[in-house]
Amino acid sequence: MIKSIGYAVKKSKNKLEPHQFTREEPGPEDVLIEVLYTGVCHSDVHQVNNDWKNTVWPCMPGHEVVGKVTRVGANVKNFKAGDTAAVGCMIESCMSCPSCIEGNEQYCESETSWLATYNGAMMPNGQNTFGGYSNTLVVSEHFVLKVPGNLDLKSVAPILCAGVTTYSPLKHFKVKAGQKVGVVGFGGLGHMATQIARAMGAEVTVLSTSPDKKEDALRLGASSFIHSGDKTQMEEAAESLDFILNTVPEKHEIEPYLELLRRDAVMIIVGVLMPEPGWDPQKVIMKRRLLGGSLIGSIRETQEVLDFCSEHGIAPQVEVIPIERINECFENVEKKKVRYRYVIDLASLKAVEGRSDLSDLGSVGNHLKKAQAADQAA
Ligand code: NAP
Ligand code: ZN
Repeated sequence: MIKSIGYAVKKSKNKLEPHQFTREEPGPEDVLIEVLYTGVCHSDVHQVNNDWKNTVWPCMPGHEVVGKVTRVGANVKNFKAGDTAAVGCMIESCMSCPSCIEGNEQYCESETSWLATYNGAMMPNGQNTFGGYSNTLVVSEHFVLKVPGNLDLKSVAPILCAGVTTYSPLKHFKVKAGQKVGVVGFGGLGHMATQIARAMGAEVTVLSTSPDKKEDALRLGASSFIHSGDKTQMEEAAESLDFILNTVPEKHEIEPYLELLRRDAVMIIVGVLMPEPGWDPQKVIMKRRLLGGSLIGSIRETQEVLDFCSEHGIAPQVEVIPIERINECFENVEKKKVRYRYVIDLASLKAVEGRSDLSDLGSVGNHLKKAQAADQAA
C-alpha cells in the first residue's frame, strides 16, 4: 500500500480538508507518480458541490496533474523512475470496445465506461478514485502523458483538461486558418481555446460577461472582444462566426450565441453539463446551423495538445497556490475571479505531513471494478 496525503471533502457540504489514505500498489502495467502540480478545474468545484448529482464521497479532486515517476510496473515500457509525467481526466478504460479501439477512450462503451482520475467510474458503480489534490497517483501506462522539455512545469497542468477539452473539438470539427471562431466564456477553458484556435490560424472573437478581461483576451490572441451583456455589440456580430466553442459553466440562454453563427456554422458546448433552458429549433433550422457537444479528449489528443502547446509557445496563465488556500480559490472560481487557472503546488502538503490529527480515508484502488463486484460488496 502507498501511504498518501491529500485534500478531500468527506461528505456533502463539507470543505476540503487534509486527510491521509492509502493507494493500492501499482500493478505490472502501472506508473506511480509523485504529484508536483495540479490544476484547479471548474469541474472540481461542480463535483465537490455535487452539481451533477454523481459525487462519490469522500471526494478528492484533481485531474490536471504533472509529476515525477517514482516507480513503474514490470511491463511498463515508456516511462522510468525520474521521468516527468502528466495525467489528465482518465486513468483507465476497457481498451476493447469500438471507441477504445479507435482511440477515443473518453467515449468508452463498457458497462462502467472509463475510470476517472477522481470520483471513480463514469457510470457510477460505487467505486471511488482519488485525484491529484494529493502527493501520489497510480495510473495505467497508456493514460500517462509525456511532457515536452520546453514547457514550464508550473504552468503545464491545465493543458491536461482545459487544453485538451478545447483542442479536441477544434480539431474534430476541422477549424482551419482564416475561419472566424467565437469563444464563449474567458476562463480556464476559454483562455486555452483562444490561444489554440489562434495558433490553428483562426481569427478569434472572445464573448465574455466580464469587460475587464478584454486586454487579456487580445493579448492572448483574440482579434476582437464582445461584452456578451451588451445587446448592441451582440447584434452587430450577428451571423459572423464559423464556429463557436461555448465554455460557460452554468445554465444560460444559448439563443443569443446561435444567432452569431453563419449559415452551416457550428456551436459546440463543452461547459455546461446540466439541462439548459429551452431554445427555439428555428434558430438552427433556418440557417442549417449545428449544435453539438464534446467530452474532454482522447489520450492521443492529450499528447497532441501538449506537443502543440510546446511547438506554438502556448502556456496557460496560472497562479500557483499552496493547497491550504484551496477553499478560498474554489470560491474565486465560482465568482469568476480566477486569472485564469489556479495550480496547486503539492510541495505545500509537507505542512500537514505527519500531523497526528489527520483522519484516515482508508484505501482506494486504481483500476476499474465491475459494477457487479461493487454491488456485491455494498
Ligand atoms: P472557469 O475557469 O470558471 O471559466 C468559465 C468562464 O465562463 C468564466 O470565467 C466566465 O467567463 C464565464 N461564465 C461563468 N459563469 C457564467 C454565467 N453564469 N454565464 C455566462 N458566462 C459565465 O471554468 P472552466 O474551468 O473553464 O470550465 C468551464 C466549464 O467547462 C465548467 O462547467 C466545467 O465543468 C466544464 N468542463 C467540461 C469539460 C468537458 O469535457 N466537456 C471538460 C472540462 C471542463 P467571462 O468572465 O469571460 O464571462
Ligand atoms: Zn477539468
